[in-house]
Amino acid sequence: MSTSPLRVIIAGGGIGGLCLAQGLHAAGISVVVYERDAAPDARLQGYRLNIEPVGSRALHDCLPAHLWEILVATAGDPGPGMGVFTERLRLLMREDDPPAGLSRSERTHAVSRITLRRLLLAGLDGIVHFGKEFTRYRQNADGTVTAFFADGTCATGDLLVGADGARSRVRRQLLPHAKQRNAPGVGIGGKLRLDDRTAWLPEEMTSTKNMILPKRDFLFTAVFRRREGGDAIEARVGDQLRAAGLDPDLVVQDTKDDDYVMWAYVAHRRALPAEATGKHGQRLRDLVVSRLAGWHPDLRELISQTPPDTVERFDFAAAARVKPWATTNVTLLGDAIHYMPPVGGLGGNAALYDANALRRALITVSRGEWELLPAIAEYERAMLKHGFGAVRAATMYLHLATLRSHVIRATARMFFQLCGKVPSLRRAVFAE
Ligand SMILES: Cc1cc2nc3c(=O)[nH]c(=O)nc-3n(C[C@H](O)[C@H](O)[C@H](O)COP(=O)(O)OP(=O)(O)OC[C@H]3O[C@@H](n4cnc5c(N)ncnc54)[C@H](O)[C@@H]3O)c2cc1C
Repeated sequence: MSTSPLRVIIAGGGIGGLCLAQGLHAAGISVVVYERDAAPDARLQGYRLNIEPVGSRALHDCLPAHLWEILVATAGDPGPGMGVFTERLRLLMREDDPPAGLSRSERTHAVSRITLRRLLLAGLDGIVHFGKEFTRYRQNADGTVTAFFADGTCATGDLLVGADGARSRVRRQLLPHAKQRNAPGVGIGGKLRLDDRTAWLPEEMTSTKNMILPKRDFLFTAVFRRREGGDAIEARVGDQLRAAGLDPDLVVQDTKDDDYVMWAYVAHRRALPAEATGKHGQRLRDLVVSRLAGWHPDLRELISQTPPDTVERFDFAAAARVKPWATTNVTLLGDAIHYMPPVGGLGGNAALYDANALRRALITVSRGEWELLPAIAEYERAMLKHGFGAVRAATMYLHLATLRSHVIRATARMFFQLCGKVPSLRRAVFAE
């Protein structure tokens, strides 16, 4: 067993990379993060992120207790289990509510991406370096690894973790054969603010997540409601934020945003006209409305009342399954290895799962209980199983959304209806 302290280099300071850095730093393991963005808020990101129990557990385990408390305090409530409807808003199935009495680390939270990033960065001064674009690595004869950056600098450690997202340069060097495929679906999404003028929205739309399974295409809706107002949060956790070196105004600014319903319309790539490209909100919104003939008027209204400046198009891709490789002192986590379509909101949760699994493995190494390579090999086995399981689920949702066969769609609707009526079947299919 090596007796010198473990040094971990992370390329990419996104959700997964920063969660891992927090967990390792708390465990006293030397860690440095190199992030390409020039600054923490270089890319202000719009939608809230649904953190499911697997992600909540990881954040709970990796963040210091006070940051976890603040995360929960500033998170929104995504409502109970999901509903599945026809385009006429006929209920096919409603997922069971989560069991009563779950702890906060076993629940779902809707977190603002920028608030999450600020909290994940708290206390990591001198550990996270911005404006550092990773370009390549070299594995050295003495068992160390050196990461090189676009500004001509480099850093050497015992382990390099590629947490550099969907277009990972670490993956391209480590696994040049790993591929991403364009998925058949295209998504168009927007946000409608909830206020007195949206009181007509059906209760389901304003209280929980919903899947609309029509005869063609697909609509997903999610509601983001604050658990409490920004001023109340500031009054309650303001002192904790200041003690953590954070500016309460900055951290709670996103929670001062209005509550809103987010929708995502998904269609087969070939079903949308060629001009439905780019980021022309109004054209994209009108295109979605034009495809909703025969839908319930409230669903048409939800789309047509959405401000065009919130409407965007997303092209989907998915990582092809990679066979396990010979483990070395370079590994990967999150989108860098198992990128998936955002349908189902699984990608960030999978990155957090990886961060927590890798943290646990590295703690055993730092305590001298395990050698580095077997510990990484064990992590990679768990990460590939969980991550590609999530890719498969997201791809399956996307297939369902883009199904062109009326017969298979009708069968899928009947299946959801059956699940709605038979609790044991519903639990067997949707419990996880
Ligand atoms: C519209 C939309 C909605 C979504 N909603 C959800 C949701 O509700 N729940 C959920 O779980 N997931 C959701 N996702 C998916 C989620 O955002 C990603 O899966 C998640 O961000 C992956 O985390 P990561 O840390 O692996 O990668 P990222 O968060 O992409 O972080 C990668 C980081 O690496 C940096 N980087 C890239 N290249 C380099 C380089 N060469 N050198 C240094 N740094 C580099 C990037 O700047 C970035 O900061 C959604 C995605 C989209 C598009």
